[in-house]
Amino acid sequence: MKKIAILGSTGSIGVQTLEIAREYKDDIEITALVAHSNIELLEQQIREFRPSLVSVYDEDKAKLLRDKVRDLPVRVETGMEGTIACATEASTDTVVTAMVGMIGILPTIEAIKAGKNIALANKETLVTAGHIIMPLCKEKNIELLPVDSEHSAIFQSLQGENRKSLQRILLTASGGPFRGFTKSSLEAVKAEDALKHPNWAMGKKITIDSATMINKALEVMEAAWLFDLELDQIEVLVHPQSIIHSMVEYVDGSVIAQLGLPDMRLPIQYALFYPDRMNMKLGERVDFARIKQLTFEEPDMDTFYGLKLGLKAGGLGGSMPTVFNAANEWTVARFIEGRIGFMDIPRLIEKAMDNHQIIPNPSLDEILNIEQKTYDFIEGIIESAN
Ligand code: NDP
Ligand code: MG
Repeated sequence: MKKIAILGSTGSIGVQTLEIAREYKDDIEITALVAHSNIELLEQQIREFRPSLVSVYDEDKAKLLRDKVRDLPVRVETGMEGTIACATEASTDTVVTAMVGMIGILPTIEAIKAGKNIALANKETLVTAGHIIMPLCKEKNIELLPVDSEHSAIFQSLQGENRKSLQRILLTASGGPFRGFTKSSLEAVKAEDALKHPNWAMGKKITIDSATMINKALEVMEAAWLFDLELDQIEVLVHPQSIIHSMVEYVDGSVIAQLGLPDMRLPIQYALFYPDRMNMKLGERVDFARIKQLTFEEPDMDTFYGLKLGLKAGGLGGSMPTVFNAANEWTVARFIEGRIGFMDIPRLIEKAMDNHQIIPNPSLDEILNIEQKTYDFIEGIIESAN
């Protein structure tokens, strides 16, 4: 029996993880669940999966939920303490980190310290704190398995190979809803346009990150940490059909890829059951005759210059990826609220990066401090413009 805790169970990845748990009831037990405030869905999940511990970040909502589930043997916690309690719950073997944003850093670190294996969806965690998390995983001898589809594809394409023979990674990108747009046409796009992804149904933040292509910059940094690579060993390749989820090129020129329909349940299930492959009872299979063609193009880094900024932040290293990521989190939320335009996202990120003095090996406190300073810096610019 696999004992699994999910941080962010009410989100896109969380819900799909529970769909797999439902299919594999006899193999997966849910020990703990965490959400921010969606207690309606969390209550349903508690009633179906019967975890012994849950946490709702919002304190008022946690109180409401406590009342609603009085009839069940479940403890309801709140705040960051509650999230950490769920991340370190004693009987759990694997924690699925499916919260969105840097808020996932602390619980992920605490879960690793408590010896839990990690199925990692929360990429912002590695982007900002990879230099803390990766050595900690080694020290604690825990497995950190990728859930992100590209990273799962790379991981699958590395199985059985000699790691020393790896030449480079081809990280695929759909190009998002605005592929082919010009910079000036992007100025006018609205959140509702950006929230329509052509291939994937995901949470709002990552959907906007896909539209700006900043998601790919985050994924390049995530891949560099996960697979111990230099950034220049990772090439971003636009592949609009999202069938090839990424590829590994070896020294002999051979390229191994993982293919499948764009459905996150596959990489989630692979991470949960690795090294076993289980029957996938949900969704469809690839029908190549119907797809007919797979196409590729270079990313347009001038138009989608948030991608270029992210690769620059990754190259500079130290605390710069934290600034890049925090600036992105803040501007994406403001864009969704309608307070800033789409192209203000990279513009403001660039300003935050220009304003920052790099700290080479930031501690956790420094990372969290820089995060807050970056939020304040950008909010200051937005306010002064209005
Ligand atoms: P969603 O926005 O759909 O879900 C986020 C989840 O995190 C929700 O359960 C939310 O709770 C919870 N949450 C948010 N803030 C807090 C907080 N402060 N404390 C506790 N819980 C919190 O996001 P996604 O599922 O799309 O993405 C999750 C992560 O996975 C992201 O890092 C994303 O980049 C990554 N990822 C996602 C993919 C996808 O297909 N969706 C693909 C690859 C990676 P509530 O519902 O109550 O707000
Ligand atoms: Mg991805």
